[in-house]
Amino acid sequence: MLYVFLTPPGKSAIVRPMKTHQTTINRIFSMKGIGLHTGREVNLEFIPRREPGIAFVRDGQVIPARYDQVADTRLSTLIAGGGASVSTIEHLMAAFYFSGITNCLVYIDGPEVPIMDGSAWEFYQEMWRVGIYEFPESGTYLQLLKPVEVALQDAYVRMKPQSSFDITMSIEFRDPVGRQKRRVLDVENAFAIINSRTFTMVEEIEAIRKMGLAKGGSLDNAVVVDAEGVMNPDGLRYRKELVNHKILDLIGDFYSSGYRMLGKVEAHKSGHHLNNLFLRQLFSDPENYAIY
Ligand SMILES: [Zn+2]
Repeated sequence: MLYVFLTPPGKSAIVRPMKTHQTTINRIFSMKGIGLHTGREVNLEFIPRREPGIAFVRDGQVIPARYDQVADTRLSTLIAGGGASVSTIEHLMAAFYFSGITNCLVYIDGPEVPIMDGSAWEFYQEMWRVGIYEFPESGTYLQLLKPVEVALQDAYVRMKPQSSFDITMSIEFRDPVGRQKRRVLDVENAFAIINSRTFTMVEEIEAIRKMGLAKGGSLDNAVVVDAEGVMNPDGLRYRKELVNHKILDLIGDFYSSGYRMLGKVEAHKSGHHLNNLFLRQLFSDPENYAIY
């Protein structure tokens, strides 16, 4: 076991066992599903990778799943490079995070990662079944050394140095959702986050459909909220499923840093845009972090 000695500012040394080795999947596997926006079937092939990082391959173009390749965050996190793009990477990225996989190539034959059940659950299950392969190289953890903050109107993402990763998220929507808050102390083992589904207000669907999008959206892959409450016949998977899903999105977006983070996150009404701005702010100053 590897021990890393971390000394966040203002605190005494903390000894924490960490698995800092790079990993990949044990063998090739494939998955398929429907794209949320196109409504068309998309095939994914997962290939073990020796080089660090997760990358997508579309039309022969390799696009690193990295924050500085993010080109659009309006409906999901979209990465682009060399004239190709892949959208809705965030739930798959969260599955990689929870599986502990740091290096992988994902071949994709369509413009968006399939929505599956609206969460990271099916990707995670498949990765868990295939297993992981560990390399001797380290460099998988990012320890925050200084507070970093981004804000837009009343929404914000703040992070402070700490030797573990915890997230406090709050959301605010119209009734009956209202304000919901959740704190996750041990993010790496917060398994109720993995299968919390994406959600939308019923009136937003109309607006998105008018743009010719959300063709693949249904109650099978999203929680839909109307004036009375949740429209899905089986209701919610967790009482706090909606705020859980916002945490899932943040974990997936943060994993496009290329690292597993250590720090204390507080986020209010954050989404893909603010999550990406946060990473750009974090990496703008090398004194903000250390890599292990
Ligand atoms: Zn999401």
